[in-house]
Amino acid sequence: MMPPIRCFTCGAPLGHLWEEYKRRVMNGEPPEKVLDDLGVTRYCCRRMLLTSITYIEEIALYHTLKAKRLRASGGVP
Ligand SMILES: [Zn+2]
Repeated sequence: MMPPIRCFTCGAPLGHLWEEYKRRVMNGEPPEKVLDDLGVTRYCCRRMLLTSITYIEEIALYHTLKAKRLRASGGVP
């Protein structure tokens, strides 16, 4: 849902790395190279960034659709 703030296992801060990691991976760089460049060496921390999925934009879309339907039907938005 949200980008990882800290590693669940060791507690290392990771939130400041998320945007750069996401941008570089979306531009086609291999995730393992990006993690190496960012200095994320522990496998617990690498797991946190590799397996995170942010889907808040998708949830917000459904909330907007629900609000539109409610308004169209005369319900309270
Ligand atoms: Zn860790």
